[in-house]
Amino acid sequence: MVAQNSEDSKKEKDNDILKSTQEVVQDALGRLGYPDEAYELMKEPVRMITVRIPVRMDDGKVKVFTGYRAQHSDAVGPTKGGVRFHPNVTETEVRALSIWMTLKSGIVDLPYGGGKGGIICDPREMSFRELEALSRGYVRALSQVVGPTKDIPAPDVFTNSQIMAWMMDEYSRIDEFNNPGFITGKPIVLGGSHGRETATAKGVTICIEEACKKQGIELQGARVIVQGFGNAGSFLAKFMHEMGAKVIAISDAEGALHDPDGLDIEYLLDRRDSFGTVTNLFEDTITNDEMLELETDILVPAAIQNQIREDNAHNINAKIVVEAANGPTTLEATQILTERGILLVPDVLASSGGVTVSYFEWVQNNQGYYWKEEEVQEKLREVLVKAFNNVYTTSQNRNIDMRLAAYMVGVRKMTEAARFRGWI
Ligand code: GLU
Repeated sequence: MVAQNSEDSKKEKDNDILKSTQEVVQDALGRLGYPDEAYELMKEPVRMITVRIPVRMDDGKVKVFTGYRAQHSDAVGPTKGGVRFHPNVTETEVRALSIWMTLKSGIVDLPYGGGKGGIICDPREMSFRELEALSRGYVRALSQVVGPTKDIPAPDVFTNSQIMAWMMDEYSRIDEFNNPGFITGKPIVLGGSHGRETATAKGVTICIEEACKKQGIELQGARVIVQGFGNAGSFLAKFMHEMGAKVIAISDAEGALHDPDGLDIEYLLDRRDSFGTVTNLFEDTITNDEMLELETDILVPAAIQNQIREDNAHNINAKIVVEAANGPTTLEATQILTERGILLVPDVLASSGGVTVSYFEWVQNNQGYYWKEEEVQEKLREVLVKAFNNVYTTSQNRNIDMRLAAYMVGVRKMTEAARFRGWI
């Protein structure tokens, strides 16, 4: 009964996320003067696929998993976006996330539309062999509709370069030639790009630097709170620490650590497990909700959806909120934070570093010529600084919040492409 209830409430939350995404997309398109057809085309993915994947588990029994792939828009080019492995994945969530990928690609000006995938599973409870079978099964089930010029997957929540490698190998076998451009986020030896692993956190860092300039905050010595210690959160804490900021709190799914003098980030990085858990090693913890309300200069939600809501937005005690996770702040909370003069850098902008370096990886795969780390970092910075300032200027000129401004920048490319193609 309890499980049923929490499943229902997750579904409800996902419905809210999809609805609020559609609401902002509609508002953005309207403000840009596009006709209703533009919204009709943009409000849902053009293609939504459900697959069933049989996997023989280590105990000899077959378990059938459910997976999804949403291809939101192929107006600009192939669809692009991550695949998450998580017990709470829902079809609605994947649909909403695919719209966000179109927005991200538009904001950083990539030649892609959005895509997203997910499998309902708990990788924390699966063996390596079972995970490999599941990853390969997912690709087999989707092989006809994905590919380097159709739809290009990548890592997301609880998926990593090893999973990308298995998926790439499976696709290459089906295709009968080596096809690294089918997927991004691969290990370097298989055509991965330097800088991909840290790309999301680097993108967030660049957004923080730009946001600090606008708010007159000196990053050196500034207090930072990072919620979530996964790929984005852990690297971000590291970069903030290296740049001289004071990381006063971090958290994972189980709790949060707080030290007003700054935490020992190197120690925490060393002790975290591969799913980003570390607070279970400590006794003196606080809750995630308590952590979010601590006084700080910069707050970075880098974990999951729905963390800053109408009920706690008034208690947020930060000057800048930078969303490294997808969807951590509700629309009501966005409004409250903006009214309170807190600069909110939205997910579709702040977390677009990952897909940007994925694009660089795909370009390198297509060229067969690989770039140095510095080249990747320089190009990433150029793209993100431009995107940030584009969104910031739009928000200032139109007197709107940064989320709506980001959506206005993000919807334009796809809509223009659809118009030139004669679709709308
Ligand atoms: N999953 C990441 C995101 O949500 C990266 C997608 C990609 O690299 O294609 O942006």
